[in-house]
Amino acid sequence: MRTRRSAVAVIAGAASLALALTACGQNSEGGSKAKSGDAKGATIGIAMPTKSSERWIADGKNVVENLESKGYKTKLVYGEDDPDTQVAQIENLITQGVKGLIVAAIDNKSLNNVLQEAADADIPVIAYDRLILGSKNVDYYASFDNEKVGVLQGTYIAHELGLDSGKKGPFNLELFAGSNDDNNTKYFFGGAMKVLQPYIDKKQLVVKSGQTGLNQVTTLRWDGTTAQKRMEDILTSSYKTGRVDAVLSPYDGISIGILSALKSDGYGSGSKPLPVVTGQDAELASVKSIIAGEQTQTVYKDTRELARVAAAMVDDSLKGKKPQVNDEKTYDNGSKVVPAYLLQPVSVDKANYRKVLVDGGYYTEAELK
Ligand code: BGC
Repeated sequence: MRTRRSAVAVIAGAASLALALTACGQNSEGGSKAKSGDAKGATIGIAMPTKSSERWIADGKNVVENLESKGYKTKLVYGEDDPDTQVAQIENLITQGVKGLIVAAIDNKSLNNVLQEAADADIPVIAYDRLILGSKNVDYYASFDNEKVGVLQGTYIAHELGLDSGKKGPFNLELFAGSNDDNNTKYFFGGAMKVLQPYIDKKQLVVKSGQTGLNQVTTLRWDGTTAQKRMEDILTSSYKTGRVDAVLSPYDGISIGILSALKSDGYGSGSKPLPVVTGQDAELASVKSIIAGEQTQTVYKDTRELARVAAAMVDDSLKGKKPQVNDEKTYDNGSKVVPAYLLQPVSVDKANYRKVLVDGGYYTEAELK
């Protein structure tokens, strides 16, 4: 199946050449075009990062359902947050003859060789939510507006503390970011700091730990226990006096770890209320925590929509159609700008969770009990 290369050539501006080659059943590398209908019944490999977070379980299930409804078979694997395992799994999928790959990377830089193997077998590759870096063999990227996720978190903190009025503060803020091997981390943190940095500069916000650089605040593999430990250390070293008013957390699993550390330190009682704590993914435990008045906010990303977009990208690629994209400039992976379709994230808190998550059919009211 060579139509993928034709689509890439169109993006590169060689439209007429690509069309001519497609028309005569060849791509620019001279391969033969799949007969129409070959895509039907093909198996698509789906490599997800971990089952330790609900969202990826939902992603896997939703991608499978979407592909099956289009007549594909699927093989779904989870790498359990180990980059080597994920590489081996993808190699295995290629050996088993999958015709397309959807990959949510664990380590964005570890997949170069295996993606070359995919390209050699002419398998289109869709980067799922996390961009894969340093490889030209990534055909499309399906994700959310990742900078906006951070902007929503930062804006929420600023608004909750009433900073926008210009008069309030100083408040104490601590910062957490995601895994340094996930390309999204810098977008989330960058988006949040776009909003928060001016208040830090004006001293309306104070980061008592002094840890403000991205390299000081990342959390390897988004691990909640790692974040809990860092929060404990910060409380011990920097809050002998004063209290934490807000914590920027990039992901619900990290927020739960941060909240555990805070509660063990006496936060959440009358004289020491819990700080504003953000999050991401609207995972069940965090939505329940929001309803219970502990975590304050999360960023909801409808994984049903993401799965639909990614499945359509594979389907179109295999059928020689150019998938729908809405961003062809932001996501440079160091080797090429990967054409992307970006969905919109939504800020959720106690005030709107019912409207967004229950009315939107993401959770039932009973699941949130
Ligand atoms: C995703 C987030 C998720 C995080 C941890 C990121 O790549 O975009 O939605 O919270 O990984 O799983």
